[in-house]
Amino acid sequence: MHRDHLPLAARREAASQQRVIEGFALRTWLAGTIAVVTAAIVFAYSRDVQLALIALVGGATATVIARSIGDNDLADIEAGGEGESSLELAPVLEAILDPVVMVRDGRVIAANGPARLLLGQHIIGEDVRTAIRHPAASDYLTMSPADRGDAPIELVGLGAQDRRWQMRATETAPGTQIVHLLDQTGQHAAERMRVDFVANASHELRTPLSSILGYVETLSDEAGDDPAIRRRFLGIVFDEATRMERLVEDLMSLSRIEAEKFRLPSTTVDLAVLAIEVHEALRHSRGARGEDVVLRIGEDVPPVAGDRVQLSQLLHNLIGNAMKYGRAGTPVTVTLKTGSRDAVLLQIEDESEGIAPEHLPRLTERFYRVDAGRSRSLGGTGLGLAIVKHIVERHRGRLDIASVVGTGTRVTVTLRAAER
Ligand code: ADP
Repeated sequence: MHRDHLPLAARREAASQQRVIEGFALRTWLAGTIAVVTAAIVFAYSRDVQLALIALVGGATATVIARSIGDNDLADIEAGGEGESSLELAPVLEAILDPVVMVRDGRVIAANGPARLLLGQHIIGEDVRTAIRHPAASDYLTMSPADRGDAPIELVGLGAQDRRWQMRATETAPGTQIVHLLDQTGQHAAERMRVDFVANASHELRTPLSSILGYVETLSDEAGDDPAIRRRFLGIVFDEATRMERLVEDLMSLSRIEAEKFRLPSTTVDLAVLAIEVHEALRHSRGARGEDVVLRIGEDVPPVAGDRVQLSQLLHNLIGNAMKYGRAGTPVTVTLKTGSRDAVLLQIEDESEGIAPEHLPRLTERFYRVDAGRSRSLGGTGLGLAIVKHIVERHRGRLDIASVVGTGTRVTVTLRAAER
């Protein structure tokens, strides 16, 4: 609040004080002059010092009254009260994008658009506890400013159940306060995601690590003397260590891609050449299943503006998933073609059990799996599609996943052709 609000408040206060000081100086000067002139006239006519003194005291009283009127004006303007100053208040409040409410003696006297949208159009004139209908807000606003201190409070569920706000009230004059609400919903969700991610990553790493430690311990006693057991256990240790390595590599990829999120790739990549290379690599590394990959490359597909290493990873992850989750022996079709308006379309289709619609929106979340056991047994880290999503976002492209249960899945990536 203070970042947005203070400069405006400071400007407003300076302007108001300037006007008040000017008005105050004029009144004081006038009252003082009248007092002295009156006293002089009285003395000139009456030659009576006492009468002249009475006139002077009367004039001095007028000066004090003028001063007190000036002070009241200042207090009124500081409070954003009625008159000329309140006319200025409305545009100032409207210029603030967060909800802001002005309260005097417990009643709402002004509210900007965002505040009326959140709390209702009818809140002007209402008791602030009715306007901001939240128990924590009521307690806070009825406390004296000295008791509640400067710290803001958190409000959960104001406006909608999952919305979170930070509320702060600042007293601008006795009985008058500005209440400012700051939407923290997005920040809270991001923080939750970060905490969940750290917890999930730690869990994913701990599982193979515990397994490795367990087998190494067993190998170090008598079980290790039996060559057959030793070979089998060492095989498991190797597999678990490989799984950890894959996970660490994926985590590193993800953070690298995220770090480059706002830097548009500056190189040009021929996706047709890249797809052929990845196809070759998979054919050699994935045995018989590698032979099921079918490449269909359209005529004159233009190159795209992209990062070669990241697009190769995208192809590996998507074709790899289609090979993993598709039925053995069924084709995995990779199609590359020109789309409308300078777009290049990459489609990867498989024949499988498909994915139920309720899972589709969450597939690109980190560590989200439809069937965790199956994913792990197939060597999945749960990060493949999250990496794909970030790569597509960095390329300002589009990712669509469509699936028909019992038939199969089609993933479409739309990228921009490089400028020629
Ligand atoms: P994983 O390492 O588990 O494969 P991904 O992020 O690549 O992680 O995919 C997330 C989940 O999406 C997978 O666990 C799987 O349940 C589902 N999935 C991804 N691709 C396919 C596909 N082609 N067919 C069916 N399910 C898929």
